[in-house]
Amino acid sequence: MSGLPGWDLAYSGKVRDLYVPAGSTLDAAPEMLMVASDRVSAFDQVLEPVIPGKGELLTTLTRWWIERLGLPDQLAPDADARTPEAVRGRAMLVRTLDMLPVECVVRGRITGSGLKEYRQTGAISGVALPAGLEDGDLLPEPIYTPAWKAPQGQHDENVSFERTVELVGAARAAKLRDVSLSVFAAAAAIAAEAGLVLADTKLELGVDRATGELVLADEVLTSDSSRYWDAAALAEGRVESFDKQIVRDWLAAHWDGEGEAPALPDDVVARTSARYAELIARLTD
Ligand code: ATP
Ligand code: MG
Repeated sequence: MSGLPGWDLAYSGKVRDLYVPAGSTLDAAPEMLMVASDRVSAFDQVLEPVIPGKGELLTTLTRWWIERLGLPDQLAPDADARTPEAVRGRAMLVRTLDMLPVECVVRGRITGSGLKEYRQTGAISGVALPAGLEDGDLLPEPIYTPAWKAPQGQHDENVSFERTVELVGAARAAKLRDVSLSVFAAAAAIAAEAGLVLADTKLELGVDRATGELVLADEVLTSDSSRYWDAAALAEGRVESFDKQIVRDWLAAHWDGEGEAPALPDDVVARTSARYAELIARLTD
């Protein structure tokens, strides 16, 4: 999308574009418009082509979870009425928060980059785990495995809880962990009612500039930020995912990580958007 009258593009992430009132900046604007694009990223790469409708699906899911969980959230007062028509559905008018440089990852199951780290070290983000865990296994209890949110262009890096204390202070580090674990537990229980296993999720929190309160920001429990598996298939030993795994799997099989990533084929695009839509239907019906 190019111009949004009355708004300036202040930041473009891999997936979301942040707009502030014309003439303002992210540092100065108390509110901003967070617009989810249809872009898809995997292994920190933005891929071609876009997944049609994805931005709206992500925003729908974020909004649904925020309301369902009833936590202090980032939405600005009267957010919907004040959201420009052109981006309604995929945008959220939010309070601009001072984001903390920690990605709050909670894992109920071991897979993905966590599994890789566990195989090398027996631990994830400094959390020691029992020996012999295999891909997809249930962990003894959900674990908090924070990552340091690297400045744009660099790779995020798993860090220990102690490192997050150095990054944000002891009180906030503990709060990030506690909020993350409790959001995960609540969401996993809700997902289970829909026949879904929430394997892991990543949350971001920021500080409210007016009150100093920690607030859940960014996307919440979406299929970009979380792994959802079909519980019935899992009981039979199969992983059927409702998330970005289709894209990751295809890319892992067709790209060695060097140079530019190849374009996603049409069927991968179509299956991904169908799975994202199905997840919403399963959760919200
Ligand atoms: P990066 O910012 O490193 O590119 P990303 O690709 O995950 O990460 P997006 O998710 O596309 O980024 O963009 C969203 C950006 O907006 C993130 O940098 C996120 O931290 C930030 N953000 C989300 N919610 C808020 C908020 N309420 N106030 C301020 N910043 C926010
Ligand atoms: Mg993000």
